[in-house]
Amino acid sequence: MKTIDVGIIGGGPAGYTAAIYSSRANLSTVQFLGVQPGGQITLTNDLENFPGFPDGIGGLELAENFEKQATKFGTVTVYDKIDAVDFSKRPFYLKTTGGEEYLADSVIISTGSSSRMLGVPGETESIGRGVSTCATCDAFFYRDKHVVVVGGGDSALDESLFLTRFVKKLTLVHRRDKFRGSPILQNRVLKNEKIEVVWNSVVEEVLHNETGVYAARLKNVETGKVDDLPVDGIFVFIGHLPNTSLFKGSIDLDEHDYILTDRNGHTNIPGVFAAGDVQDSIYRQAITAAGSGCMAALEAYKFLEHEKSNAEVSLTP
Ligand code: NAP
Repeated sequence: MKTIDVGIIGGGPAGYTAAIYSSRANLSTVQFLGVQPGGQITLTNDLENFPGFPDGIGGLELAENFEKQATKFGTVTVYDKIDAVDFSKRPFYLKTTGGEEYLADSVIISTGSSSRMLGVPGETESIGRGVSTCATCDAFFYRDKHVVVVGGGDSALDESLFLTRFVKKLTLVHRRDKFRGSPILQNRVLKNEKIEVVWNSVVEEVLHNETGVYAARLKNVETGKVDDLPVDGIFVFIGHLPNTSLFKGSIDLDEHDYILTDRNGHTNIPGVFAAGDVQDSIYRQAITAAGSGCMAALEAYKFLEHEKSNAEVSLTP
């Protein structure tokens, strides 16, 4: 059993920033990066809105920089997931999937969120065989092919534009008659000759055979008309769900399963903090995640200092 000051669960911008601040504050800090170090930014080809990079920066490169910076100040990174926690008493118990056990005086949860899926027939069994949630990872396989993209937010628009560098044709299926994404991306999408938008429609079924996806069954939600559109792949960008299943029952969550925090990242358990997309259903940006990671680490430092001075006072005869 290893004893540490701060355990950081999660390896996205929030977790890395928390790690940088925590280790720079001279707290012994272990960051559990999970199975996808870097988090969702590693699925983004270019971040054009992260301040300090006027020409944009690749998500993977930014994640590598974060990690270099955190380890430079002494953060120990563990390439494993936490699969058990006990927040009922301090120090808090954490166990990795590989069986390593830790006792942490303070914990920062920054487990982020995962792609929301359509939940229609044929989807689950086609993941990796024609259904994807990552254009950066999979666009290459659809060179000169026809794909469907589902969604109307920034992710769907941004990823569609990226996909057009590869595909012959892209059909963007959105359930309403108006995009949610930013006007600048909407303009670029609507001007792109490779993109055809199918409004007021949903993918009702993913049609597939032994070689993978061959069509998307589309339903117009206004007319009820159903059409099978022959395609080679379906990319789903319809938002995210917080990664909180591990914490259900041990920490307060909101009605959508996001961790409830005050404005400084405190959860309902003193000494446990949360940062990034796992507690933010509104902004969900790399930069806001990083900012909240910083706040959580500063709060963890304050908390530990306060506990230390209380302990010193109680030891004074
Ligand atoms: P989002 O903004 O929540 O958009 C999700 C989209 O999926 C919406 O258009 C929604 O439709 C649609 N949708 C949800 N459930 C659906 C379902 N079951 N079937 C069909 N369509 C469904 O999520 P996001 O696009 O992933 O963006 C998340 C956050 O990251 C946002 O704050 C966004 O600004 C940010 N982001 C920014 C950039 C950038 O600036 N370059 C890039 C990516 C993401 P409705 O519109 O009808 O609700």
